[in-house]
Amino acid sequence: MKRILFFAISLCLTATVATAKQNNKSLVGKTLPAWSEGYLDIHTISSGRGECLLIVMPDGTSMVIDAGEIVYKSKPSKKSQYGMAKPRPNNDVRPVQVYADYIRNFMPYKDAIDYYHLSHFHMDHMGQIIKRYKTDEEGGYVKTGPTELFHHIPFREAIDRAYPDYDKWTAQATSAKVLENYRKFLDYHVAKGDLKATKFELGATNQFALRHKPNAYPNFKIENICVNGMVWDKFQNKTINVYNGRPIRENASSCGFVIRYGKFDFLTAGDIGDYYDFEYVVAQAAGKVDAAKAHHHLSPHSMIQKSMKVLSPQVMSVTSFSNREIQPDQSKFGYITKGGCKMYCTSVGEAMLENYPKVYKKCRSVSGHVVFRVEPNGERFWVYVLDDFDSEYRIKMVDGPFKAK
Ligand SMILES: [Zn+2]
Repeated sequence: MKRILFFAISLCLTATVATAKQNNKSLVGKTLPAWSEGYLDIHTISSGRGECLLIVMPDGTSMVIDAGEIVYKSKPSKKSQYGMAKPRPNNDVRPVQVYADYIRNFMPYKDAIDYYHLSHFHMDHMGQIIKRYKTDEEGGYVKTGPTELFHHIPFREAIDRAYPDYDKWTAQATSAKVLENYRKFLDYHVAKGDLKATKFELGATNQFALRHKPNAYPNFKIENICVNGMVWDKFQNKTINVYNGRPIRENASSCGFVIRYGKFDFLTAGDIGDYYDFEYVVAQAAGKVDAAKAHHHLSPHSMIQKSMKVLSPQVMSVTSFSNREIQPDQSKFGYITKGGCKMYCTSVGEAMLENYPKVYKKCRSVSGHVVFRVEPNGERFWVYVLDDFDSEYRIKMVDGPFKAK
């Protein structure tokens, strides 16, 4: 009897998996269905020229993280040995236009982005000032990255790691001019009354609160776990000052948080790395997660083996837009994938794919927007990779369902 039951259960399981696979396959080539109530969507958007994420929370509250714009160089420069990946969809479309079109398409409440969150002050996250970018006549700031995005879709609230005290951070930003420009933008709109600005609060679990149905999803929250070299560890119930007066770089100052929805956990923390064990302390504060965005475009000092062991994500998006062996760092692919983590890169440079085809075979994808879609209550999730060379948002591949742990 037991044997028959076991056989029946096995058959049942096989049938479920087969159906899931069939469904996944039948979605390829179609446009990604819109978000619906109760779902959590995490989008890593691919422009090939900077980092930008969109989060749509279970009640439809939207958060955009970063909006990088770096100028495309078709030829290698001294700084970047191989130049950059191909711009998505092409060089005539500015990265911010890519983000704005994408966000407007997938955000359920179209009037405003609820939270604009800047992880740190680097140009691949906040834009660059170049001659052809226009200046806002009234505010007197150049429209780049978030300061341009605001003119496509307004934000209700901007949250960063320093507001309003930027003076002490100017030296470590890649460009003091870009930071000054961003401050000018905030000051102007805050004074005008059409934007609220707030400092990222370490340890908070309600700074990114649900705005549309605040009480509808008690099993959803966002925990702010690191900023400016400090970590909030809820398991130890304490704040850890990792840098403790030692010199800190801009990347390590990034804000980081964990989204928790039922059993599902997702970690994102800008461009942090393992200097002074910082990233490892952050990993311990996050605990085991199901999904993550790789820190710092998977550079050599990020997502190191012992951090990955603690986090053990099942899936990871990687914002890659350089033709460089170290971004993403190819030497990590082995232990990451052997550890059971599937990697989805947004836009790996063509020279890399040509020179190292075997290496990139370890990634599930090397081009496209990456979407983690979590079902209501956070029990299961799927990964969708969308074509990033047009604005149809067609599905190139689907993985899942994954079971949240
Ligand atoms: Zn970066």
